[in-house]
Amino acid sequence: MVHQFSTRAVHEGSHPDPTTGAVIPAISLSTTFAQTYPGVPIGEYEYSRSSNPNRTNFEQVLASLENGKYGLAFSSGSATTAVVLQSLPVGSHIISIGDVYGGTHRYFTQVANTHGVDSVFSSDIVTELPALIKENTKLVWVEGVSNPTLSVTDLAKVKEIITATGRTDILFVVDNTFASPYITNPLDHGADISVHSATKFINGHSDVVLGVAVTNSEEIYKRLTFLQNAIGAIPSPFDSWLAHRGVKTLALRVGQASKSALKIAEYLEASDFVEAVNYPGLPSSKDYEIVKRQHRDALGGGVVSFRIKGDKETAAKFTQSTKLFALAESLGGIESLLEVPSIMTHAGIPVAAREKSGVFDNLIRLSVGIEDTLDLIQDIAQALEAASK
Ligand SMILES: *Cc1c(COP(=O)(O)O)cnc(C)c1O
Repeated sequence: MVHQFSTRAVHEGSHPDPTTGAVIPAISLSTTFAQTYPGVPIGEYEYSRSSNPNRTNFEQVLASLENGKYGLAFSSGSATTAVVLQSLPVGSHIISIGDVYGGTHRYFTQVANTHGVDSVFSSDIVTELPALIKENTKLVWVEGVSNPTLSVTDLAKVKEIITATGRTDILFVVDNTFASPYITNPLDHGADISVHSATKFINGHSDVVLGVAVTNSEEIYKRLTFLQNAIGAIPSPFDSWLAHRGVKTLALRVGQASKSALKIAEYLEASDFVEAVNYPGLPSSKDYEIVKRQHRDALGGGVVSFRIKGDKETAAKFTQSTKLFALAESLGGIESLLEVPSIMTHAGIPVAAREKSGVFDNLIRLSVGIEDTLDLIQDIAQALEAASK
């Protein structure tokens, strides 16, 4: 019997302890596990880098929530990227999106390049992909919902293009951080691996840095498990436990954040202080048809971005005027945050390139938390007034 999302979030990987009856699994800090005879461990564990009970529990629930067979946890979203990239042969070619997460771009171009990996970034991957695929292309890496302009990639379409080439050696990886497994499950749309920075919505409380990868392929799972152990970029038992606690409320948190984010996007769309709004949950969004197919209940998620009328000083003034939205990088937590991508998260990208993907000086990104919608809208309303004075 397959249960619904929140039932699985609460119960998968979380069973009462058979000896003490503790309903919540204990945090297992031991680095090593006793054996009864050389090479015969008492249970399924030997050494905590290879596997640990809290990590296993968390990996199980994540696999289930992503509709996958196998889950793997890493010390950060970036470590997850590193391990996936390390699984590619020397001299591989990667195709990705123009507004891919800055840290991913950095890893592809400044770390993976040292083992001969070459990457290309397309601002319209669905159109350009067929022409970009080369003989040594081994990876297509997209984000379901991109950052900070929140465009949505048609995952089934990307898969269709890869399949049409007849090539079986091209991995299709989706970074599903912005949507979260509650909103979409990339494996259902043809991805080979769904990866996350669990630092964001999955943990959801801005107190853990962690990453995950989920797949249905035993071959990929074996390769990544080998690298997880060999490289050792693993999360601590405590962080695994915290992230596991966090993910149990994923549907409640992402549901509430999406509800507020839609109301905020509608408010911004109607405001005279605003030039443009990016939110995939708005029926006016250019990607709404894809959202309807790819997202649960056409939800847009908890992130909204908009261009305030004015320049970067106006945007900065807005950030000085909010009382609830804190000025900080990151997203996906219970508390609302805001940032100016051109100065903060995307400052490293050359101006022409960032403007090409919609990151203008007056763009503001909101990560909507789970506070009451009305309070958030009032906070935005007074900050727009204050910034425009
Ligand atoms: C934050 C983030 C990452 C990197 O994750 P860390 O946990 O910070 O290492 C990767 N992809 C996306 C889309 C992110 O938002």
